[in-house]
Amino acid sequence: MIPYGSQDISQADIDAVVAALQSDFLTQGPQVPLFEQTVASHVGAKHALAVNSATSALHIACLALGLGPGDWLWTTPVTFVASANCGLYCGAQVDFVDIDPRTYNLCPKALESKLLAAQKSDKLPKVVVAVHLSGQPCDMTAIRVLGQKYGFKIIEDASHAIGGKYKGEPIGNGRYSDITVFSFHPVKIITTAEGGMALTNSDELAVHMGLLRSHGITRDTAQMTHAPDGPWYYQQIGLGFNYRMTELQAALGLSQMQRLDIFVARRHQLAQRYDQLLAALPVTTPWQQTDSYSGLHLYIIRLKLDKICKTHRQVFESLREQGIGVNLHYIPIHTQPYYQRMGYKMGDYPQAEKYYAEAISLPMYHTLSYIQQDQVVAALQRALAV
Ligand SMILES: *Cc1c(COP(=O)(O)O)cnc(C)c1O
Repeated sequence: MIPYGSQDISQADIDAVVAALQSDFLTQGPQVPLFEQTVASHVGAKHALAVNSATSALHIACLALGLGPGDWLWTTPVTFVASANCGLYCGAQVDFVDIDPRTYNLCPKALESKLLAAQKSDKLPKVVVAVHLSGQPCDMTAIRVLGQKYGFKIIEDASHAIGGKYKGEPIGNGRYSDITVFSFHPVKIITTAEGGMALTNSDELAVHMGLLRSHGITRDTAQMTHAPDGPWYYQQIGLGFNYRMTELQAALGLSQMQRLDIFVARRHQLAQRYDQLLAALPVTTPWQQTDSYSGLHLYIIRLKLDKICKTHRQVFESLREQGIGVNLHYIPIHTQPYYQRMGYKMGDYPQAEKYYAEAISLPMYHTLSYIQQDQVVAALQRALAV
């Protein structure tokens, strides 16, 4: 089976993890801050906080931005459930904004009209989570303008997008948002097995997220309510979690970071090759914004169903039967039973639903060979044929 995504672990990665394993620290040692500094300086952010998953990063990001009961978080329906669940963790309510039919990202026009309506009913969002689907950045300029006008905070869910650029600058630099989140799950662009990171330029948000990551405990005397009782002393000054990343994970991430740009460049080579090989087939290849450089976590095609005699499901099943581990990113969140119980239903977000009826993620990862890629294309040709 050729999977849709896969990690690439080098001997240097293995050596780095073994060295961490043999060091004095398995957690709370030097590797985590080193990894954080490396990512922060690579993307041009002031602060980076490594955590045990992007889901945890989204949770502490929402809490640090003050999201709570009575508030609304808005995001796109076409994303992994974690982009929305983080709002529910905080006791807030979640709502969705339909996608742009060309980029499949949250549509700024749909966002604006929903904001206008929400203003009238006094239900404006406190936080909007902009998800860079496949690694292609959202229209952040437009979203930021709306954020300033309507007073919401912005989290970039850049789980797919580390190594990408928006308007010539690295995603994660915080120019258009309050907090950016990366995921290091093995299918993503670099991996720490499980892991994530929250980046911000705000000192205040960084301190707050640091507390939330580790039980709400501080050893910084400046944050304490009184002078320490002694050298053993720490204070719990808020309620936090244990969302820490281990030294083994950070060592792996640090080693993977050295190849980040190579990983993304290879993904671009593969995408260009797919674009050419698929040009004559009845599929829509991923449209790329000219002002951005995608992380290309995913290569998503859409079937032109009016030009083929097969159903979406038949094409998908044929590919799987032929050993191509295609996938579908994502089942629109508002169609999930858990969200349907909150009142969402089919028909609420037509562009997202149309996308879901046509989309297929083809294999895309650093070690995918051209021979394997040719096999994918040949299998797709067979799957589409009458
Ligand atoms: C993978 C992913 C997440 C969650 O990442 P984890 O590190 O597995 O918690 C969140 N949002 C998006 C868009 C993702 O793709």
